[in-house]
Amino acid sequence: MKQKAETIQPSSADEALLSDAVTPLLYWYRANGRKLPWRDDPTPYHVWISEVMLQQTRVEAVKPYYERFLSRFPTVASLAAADDELLLKTWEGLGYYSRARNLKKGAAAIMERFGGEIPSDPGELLRVPGIGPYTAGAVASIAYGKPCPAIDGNVLRVVSRLLDDHADVSLPATKTRFSELLSAVYPAGDCSAFTQSLMELGACVCVPNGAPLCRECPLRHLCRAEKENTADMLPVRPEKKPRRIENRTVLLLFCRGKVAILKRPQTGLLAGLYEFPNMLSGDGTIPTGAACVGGAVHIFTHVEWHMTGYRMTLPEPDPAYLWVEPDELEQTYPIPSAFRYFRSLVMKGRLQ
Ligand code: SF4
Repeated sequence: MKQKAETIQPSSADEALLSDAVTPLLYWYRANGRKLPWRDDPTPYHVWISEVMLQQTRVEAVKPYYERFLSRFPTVASLAAADDELLLKTWEGLGYYSRARNLKKGAAAIMERFGGEIPSDPGELLRVPGIGPYTAGAVASIAYGKPCPAIDGNVLRVVSRLLDDHADVSLPATKTRFSELLSAVYPAGDCSAFTQSLMELGACVCVPNGAPLCRECPLRHLCRAEKENTADMLPVRPEKKPRRIENRTVLLLFCRGKVAILKRPQTGLLAGLYEFPNMLSGDGTIPTGAACVGGAVHIFTHVEWHMTGYRMTLPEPDPAYLWVEPDELEQTYPIPSAFRYFRSLVMKGRLQ
């Protein structure tokens, strides 16, 4: 059992095991890989967009967004020229909105530095804003067929279990070592399928939540975690800090059939999106006459918002806010899903 990632070198026994995994894994993938929209036509642009959308997000949630995004922004050039609000509106509900902004920045850089053509070299891909080692590996291998691993959570889990490797997978040294091991066994001519097969095994068989489906695994005969009965301990990650809880008051202010919203600052959480006026509970008094409309909880990566809403009708529109028709909340303004409950109350016309 291996303990310290910093001191571990890739071993030839590990490499031999991964090498033996290539053929059965590819065979399994060809028979069992899911049919997904971005697999139909894996151009570099399609791979880039889909891989960014899939970060921290379930496949089923991504599918409709992927189709809609490509119909609005079908090329690198159209993404580079995207209207910011239309871009965020298209991303609305997918979360982690900096991904959308970074895609646009990346597209602009690809137009400027590479004449609109997404580079195939991983080093050049890494020079594009918003593209990190994972996305660079995915584009280089899936779209361009290069022997470049794309190390995401699925791949870390599969490799650490196959090798019964107890190094902390959040450490860069562990990712580098796994990447070196995989690079050495990439099958010439099948790099695209190999990257996808590793991800697919992690998503569908060597699953993250609950017990892995070892009986269905094409690598069971090779897997050290299966032999040692250690799969449920792997991969090793540091303990997560508990999320901070913020109690927030949300104001649904109406005036002459319109509702008040605000644009959030261009940096920080939910940057550039629109929201109902809200504050930390205790940071402001609830206006006299405001009626409680219930509450909602939204969980971000590091913080939970526990929100209570109040509605109120004002005699005059306060110029501190943007006053919009309820329909425009749906059609025009990007509103993060944290406010979904309150938006649905406004949309249903139950308030005012
Ligand atoms: Fe994962 Fe089980 Fe397959 Fe090992 S045998 S790779 S633990 S699913």
